[in-house]
Amino acid sequence: MAGEGAATERAKGGSGAPTERTRLRRFPEQGSHERAALEAVLDAGFLCHLGVVVDGWPMVVPTTYGRAGDRLYVHGSVASQSLRRARSNPVCVTVTHLDGIVLARSVFNEAANYRAAMIYGEAQALRDPDEKLVALRAISEQVLPGQWDYARAPTAAELAQTTVVVLGLAEASVKVRAGPPDDGDGPDGLLSLWAGELPARMVYGPARPAPGLDSSIALPPHVRDWLDHPTPPPGHDRLG
Ligand SMILES: Cc1cc2nc3c(=O)[nH]c(=O)nc-3n(C[C@H](O)[C@H](O)[C@H](O)COP(=O)(O)OP(=O)(O)OC[C@H]3O[C@@H](n4cnc5c(N)ncnc54)[C@H](O)[C@@H]3O)c2cc1C
Repeated sequence: MAGEGAATERAKGGSGAPTERTRLRRFPEQGSHERAALEAVLDAGFLCHLGVVVDGWPMVVPTTYGRAGDRLYVHGSVASQSLRRARSNPVCVTVTHLDGIVLARSVFNEAANYRAAMIYGEAQALRDPDEKLVALRAISEQVLPGQWDYARAPTAAELAQTTVVVLGLAEASVKVRAGPPDDGDGPDGLLSLWAGELPARMVYGPARPAPGLDSSIALPPHVRDWLDHPTPPPGHDRLG
């Protein structure tokens, strides 16, 4: 998208100066490196794309993640090809929050408002069952706070069937676009065409009980709280 929004993009790194990889080539003057910006993007969601190289080809897999301190955890089946490839290999994890569509007078200047993070590093597989439990708890709590303590804990056999990889946050960048289209001040601003933003957010609907669920089992408080939360973080509006 050519009009990705030069005026309003902000690029921030994860934890220190940018590396050659995380230095933004576009609008580098608007970049900075703030750990808080990275944490804000990571903590506002739980879906990422894990990019690995498989036999010389990129493979980019959507999956859930959890952050605990300066560690990002991704988990899956021991049979997961992407997780097998991720172990002890370079990976790139991307997290994206869509905040809106930006409609300009010209197609050229159409854009999206977003908060995004990219993290590079070498992923390591966790072997210690206690460490795996910490990681799985982080992922579960990131998806829905309170669910870890509510649901049955993983058994030793389930832990053995689960691969967990961890990635540090040292080499990371954040990029944010916010605001209206950029073409208001140019010649296109004189066109009689509507331009502006369509804010977007993720919305949860009312809970649907599982088929056959005993009707005496009520929605647990942590799920109700999650749905009723009055001030969800950006990108996480919940409906009761
Ligand atoms: C929802 C969404 C829609 C987008 N649509 C478009 C589009 O249609 N066209 C378009 O050109 N761009 C779009 N972008 C921006 C796009 O992600 C890239 O930032 C941009 O294309 C520059 O890419 P590049 O290959 O030149 O990367 P470079 O700027 O060369 O990347 C260098 C380094 O900068 C950092 N970086 C780059 N982009 C990001 C990012 N988005 N988030 C975090 N770190 C980043 C990384 O560390 C990367 O290794 C979109 C972004 C989002 C989130």
